[in-house]
Amino acid sequence: MAQPIIKLENLNLWYDKGKPSEVWALKNINMEINKGEYVAFFGPSGCGKTTLLYTISGIDQAQEGKIFINGRDISNFSKKELAIYRQVGIGIVFQQFNLIPSLTVLNNVALPMAFLGISQEKRTIEALNLLDRLGIKDFAERYPYELSGGQQQRVGIARALANNPPIIVADEPLGNLDSVNAEKVLEFLKELNEKDGRTIIMVTHEAWSLRDAKKILYMKDGQILKSEESKPRTVAEAVSKHFYKELSPQLSQIEIAAQALSNLLLRGYSAEEIKRFEFFLFQRFSDKIDADTFRRVLDRPYQDGGIGLWKQKAAKIGQYVEEIIAERKTVEDVYKELEKNPESPLADEIEKIRLWLLQEYHGKISELQKIQFNEIISERLRSIISGEQFEKVLSLSKAKFGIGFSFRTAQRMSEKFESIINKNGNQIAIANK
Ligand code: ADP
Ligand code: MG
Repeated sequence: MAQPIIKLENLNLWYDKGKPSEVWALKNINMEINKGEYVAFFGPSGCGKTTLLYTISGIDQAQEGKIFINGRDISNFSKKELAIYRQVGIGIVFQQFNLIPSLTVLNNVALPMAFLGISQEKRTIEALNLLDRLGIKDFAERYPYELSGGQQQRVGIARALANNPPIIVADEPLGNLDSVNAEKVLEFLKELNEKDGRTIIMVTHEAWSLRDAKKILYMKDGQILKSEESKPRTVAEAVSKHFYKELSPQLSQIEIAAQALSNLLLRGYSAEEIKRFEFFLFQRFSDKIDADTFRRVLDRPYQDGGIGLWKQKAAKIGQYVEEIIAERKTVEDVYKELEKNPESPLADEIEKIRLWLLQEYHGKISELQKIQFNEIISERLRSIISGEQFEKVLSLSKAKFGIGFSFRTAQRMSEKFESIINKNGNQIAIANK
């Protein structure tokens, strides 16, 4: 096998070494990254992610250990070689963007090229190309403060790409972005990896941003706890692959439901917590464990094999999940009924579902709104309208013949509804029932 593009050997780094304020920020780090890999370091705040990135980038220096870049120890680099490595070997995307406020967007991107003595004309052309690729060419003559966070981050990425480095490191590149911009940045990192073949090293403390990484390194207290390659898409997937081969193909529907619901209910929790929750939710959905067992797992401490939720949250989520299971039963009845009689009005079932969707809504709704609500529930159950259309009607104003809920309320209700119906609309999802 070819030699790794980056190899870290027994790396140890202390801040304020020998002082009372001493911090041992990197502890015996050993790892290799191959050319073209997409690697993510994942861990809580303060675990040493930024320090590690800066060390790899030649910005910070470890007191012990070695860093090999293409097989060469960077502590043996001359000053000039180190400068070249930092200018063309590696591109850094910073969490705080680190743009220079007094320079235009164009000049921010062109600056790293100026250090290499590239002519102004060529710099401008190259920088405009990069800005174009990131969809922000129109902002070339603006200053950073005139741009939104998402646009600034894209300028930061363009700048990191300026000298065409084979390695891109990104420190929490999504930390300051809204979900739309975060999505764009993730897509772009993926493209840089897959289309350009660049090596990507990303650092994050948010589980959801790991989705495109091919290898995940879990960090804690300055150490790499473990490395996970070719991770299964979900724990449920791993479980079903290894243990439930014999079960019906309906299983994949529960996997999808368990995954979606885990991410929804445990938003903001770590990847490990979400995965474990997903595993137990899957067990509960497939009726392998009962409601009590599931509830007990929720507030059992994490180190004892539970999820470690605090009591009230555990109770709330436990109840929510049982309600979903009950409502899924209702939907199951709906499909059975529709099979017998496609024209069935489904009045009772629809009424039940509407009340369930309105459970957390404390406003009043009129008779007309009720009728409309029932109508779209019926249409959604019969797959006449999509989930998006359902949500749209909920949030459209009454003047536009919608139901007139706020955008957030509509979104929550729609998410709730989608969690009990199947995406393909015609089969029940609870297996073994
Ligand atoms: P992360 O990026 O994972 O949040 P950092 O690498 O920033 O973590 O920090 C790792 C540890 O080193 C933390 O305990 C932090 O307080 C400490 N640390 C980081 N930078 C410095 C510094 N310049 N001086 C002293 N301690 C630092
Ligand atoms: Mg950091």
